[in-house]
Amino acid sequence: MNRPLPDPDNDSAPDAQACAASAQAAGGLGGSVAGPSEDQVARIVDVIRSGSRFLVTSHSRPDGDAVGSMLAMGMMLEQMGKHADLVTADRVPWVYRGLPHADSIRSAMRVHGPYDAVILLECDGLERARLRGLEEFFLINIDHHLSGRDFGNINWIDCQAASVGEMVTRLLKALGGTLTKDMAVCLYTTLLTDTGGFCYGSTNASTFALAHELALAGADPIRVAQDIYFSTTTAKMLLLGAALCTLKREGRLAWLWITHEDMVRTNAADEDCEGIVNYAICISGIEAAVFLRELPERRIRLSLRSKGRINVAAIAGRLGGGGHENAAGCTVEGPMTRALDEILAELRPVVGEFAGAPK
Ligand code: 5GP
Ligand code: MN
Repeated sequence: MNRPLPDPDNDSAPDAQACAASAQAAGGLGGSVAGPSEDQVARIVDVIRSGSRFLVTSHSRPDGDAVGSMLAMGMMLEQMGKHADLVTADRVPWVYRGLPHADSIRSAMRVHGPYDAVILLECDGLERARLRGLEEFFLINIDHHLSGRDFGNINWIDCQAASVGEMVTRLLKALGGTLTKDMAVCLYTTLLTDTGGFCYGSTNASTFALAHELALAGADPIRVAQDIYFSTTTAKMLLLGAALCTLKREGRLAWLWITHEDMVRTNAADEDCEGIVNYAICISGIEAAVFLRELPERRIRLSLRSKGRINVAAIAGRLGGGGHENAAGCTVEGPMTRALDEILAELRPVVGEFAGAPK
């Protein structure tokens, strides 16, 4: 894969709210969607069939699910003879710039144009996209966050989906589209990254069934995995070293942080912070972990991870953020010591209550 050099991108604005979505099981891989999802998918199919111009976006600081879902959605719309503009507030992280058609995603602060609808992927609130002008359009909200909310004109929220890419695959089937190799590569990327390499709670038999289908359609699991996990920049490794030097443990809780000065010294980009929290949650006996990152303006970004029944989305929600039960985030006021005190005060009682409890 040919990628340009790494480039720093910005940070997302915080947002709030509890889960508004009812978990809906998708009837397996075959594309049949059970329960209320069925109505939402049918409505989305109608809007897509009857429209001709669409804007596709996702959250700021896009991750593998955001980028892969957007690209697959864009290809699906093009396949149907529609015009699709793909826009995000922040640039595509370097690690995903080798994905098919990744250069079709452009970054902007405001959107305008004659769109029949805007399709928001992976946004648990309109503000997560951090794009001005969205509220003027007919909004199709497709999300799988526990903190997902009904902010759109159509809201399809499936907390059981391993990735939004899984939902895009279902939509492709509902539209009668063809799963191409390029789509499969992007969709496989959403699955691999959002399940943390098939490790997180959302991984189940249907995840592997979908992975199987995507591999049959041309996604090369080895190539995708190597492009993502064996493509680490030197700056990211140096940053990780700085973070690991701060690692602290208190019973079943672990935390680590980096300062803005660490970012500057290691020449790290914003995206190089991704995944550092996993080095704390992967410690044996740890039930919850936090990675704190000092932003240039001194506010602190938190990445929360948990195992089992500790719901970090609820904790992040109380601090103005959101996410999934076992992976969430938010941004709080600095300095670092204040942010650490704040998050530890939230986590300590919860970790005590749920430690070791099976799901
Ligand atoms: P990460 O720790 O990898 O940045 O984020 C973990 C999960 O929490 C992702 O699903 C992400 O979308 C969500 N998340 C992270 N930060 C925020 C935030 O500030 N607001 C909301 N609503 N969700 C967030
Ligand atoms: Mn996702």
